[in-house]
Amino acid sequence: MSIALSLKDLFPYKRWRKGQLELAKEAYKISKKGGILLVNYPTGSGKTAAVLTGTLSAALENNLRIFYLVKTKNQLVSPLNELRKICGKTNITFSCIYNKKDMCLFESLKNVEYDDFLRYCSFMVRNNKCPFYKKASILEEASLQEVDVMSFGKEIKACPYELAKKMASRATIIVTVYNYLFHPDIRTLLEYDLGYDIKKSVIIVDEGHNLSDSITGMLTKELRKSWLVKARKEVLKLYKGEEKEIIIQELTKLLSYFKFLERKLGEKSYLEIEHENFPVYDLNPEALFKVALIIEQVEEGRLITPSSYTRKIAEFWKELHKHRASRIIVAERDFTSTIIRLTYVIPPLDTTKPLREAHAAVIMSGTLPPEDYLVSTLGLQSKNITLLTMPSLYANNIKVLGIRNISSRYVERDERNFVEMGHLIREVYRSVPTGIVMAVFPSYDYLKCVLPYVKVKDVLVERETTSIKDVISMIGIKDKVLIACSAWGKIAEGIEVRIKEESLIKAIVIAGLPIPEPSS
Ligand code: SF4
Repeated sequence: MSIALSLKDLFPYKRWRKGQLELAKEAYKISKKGGILLVNYPTGSGKTAAVLTGTLSAALENNLRIFYLVKTKNQLVSPLNELRKICGKTNITFSCIYNKKDMCLFESLKNVEYDDFLRYCSFMVRNNKCPFYKKASILEEASLQEVDVMSFGKEIKACPYELAKKMASRATIIVTVYNYLFHPDIRTLLEYDLGYDIKKSVIIVDEGHNLSDSITGMLTKELRKSWLVKARKEVLKLYKGEEKEIIIQELTKLLSYFKFLERKLGEKSYLEIEHENFPVYDLNPEALFKVALIIEQVEEGRLITPSSYTRKIAEFWKELHKHRASRIIVAERDFTSTIIRLTYVIPPLDTTKPLREAHAAVIMSGTLPPEDYLVSTLGLQSKNITLLTMPSLYANNIKVLGIRNISSRYVERDERNFVEMGHLIREVYRSVPTGIVMAVFPSYDYLKCVLPYVKVKDVLVERETTSIKDVISMIGIKDKVLIACSAWGKIAEGIEVRIKEESLIKAIVIAGLPIPEPSS
């Protein structure tokens, strides 16, 4: 079978769009010989279908497995749609695994924190108390051909996450979120549970401009002032051990340090703290974990209690002195609390190991950062890289307007600024006859301040639970909608809302850029 025929057989459409065949061939070549393909193709050029076609063709010839990775759950929609079309014409199998809590069938666990959810889930599985797990465990993997695990799991009352894992054990393609391959702890689970061999894999990273920040974000640990206040109350009320006094003393000192930081932060949104200047407290994480366990057991009347705030302090403290050379400490604040964050400047090498170990990788985006940046932040080797760039297809259809004298900089945020920004968004919205106008804010905090002044009737505000389906169903009943969302959020990143070939997004207001204040 020639390459062209093979690609043609797999490609899910009648015609190739401009640049798609070239991309599919390059993806095929890199997946055959090994290496890294950087794809800088504009949004809307059809890169998902082309890259899947090329990598799949090579994967089938060389018995490779493909990991297709996206940043958020919402971004799974596009590869899954393409895969359903491709797999409809072949016998290729795929599985989609994402956040276990979102896949869980217990509605009552939807609102608990993720760490607590994992403890509940593992408690129920260990003690044989989850009927959905039991049902999933007795199902034969062969009975799961071509099923949508969420609907099938609900229908037969079997845990969709466990079903997806079963399907993944034989699937040629696993579609999942970045964490599953780039978070070292979660990757270990995947290796253990699915027994995959990364050396025989092709990794496709979608929206690759996000990867570096997403990895540092997933490894960031935080300590909130509000947690300290609650931890102190817990220890005072529920702990009677002999270290009680010293723990209270040290937590109180730490609270005073937060007050000092708040004064230093002043009007700034961000402050870097040198490791040497971070105060030393007599807090031993191991001792705190023991205290946390006692506090959690004292909370009676439940099978398993939520994590205590003392545990959260212990977890932060345990991390504080690890990897000092590559981590920075910053103080920030949101609307509810002042926060100290322990974060990496660039991803630790261990996290990006799969990109170096895999047989091949394709990193693609509509706005790919320069090659040098990707080499240095992701630890790639320049000699293995092939770069494929396509100019924007729509550059001539877009009008870009910049507005002077208004900014979302923290120091400029006041009532007047919120009113002006709200007014601007309303004017853009009014100038568009039908379709979607998106207002992308630099943060949820700024969005909340400006929104009351936008004064538009049909607004969809992005929340943690908002999905692309919500956007599509709202536009189905309204002629015109304003979507208010946050940069780096689920809605702003790489979405397309189309009817036939026409994009329904008619205007985008960039209501400020998410750039931190430079540290002093
Ligand atoms: S096993 Fe599945 S259904 Fe049961 S608690 Fe865990 S995630 Fe939920």
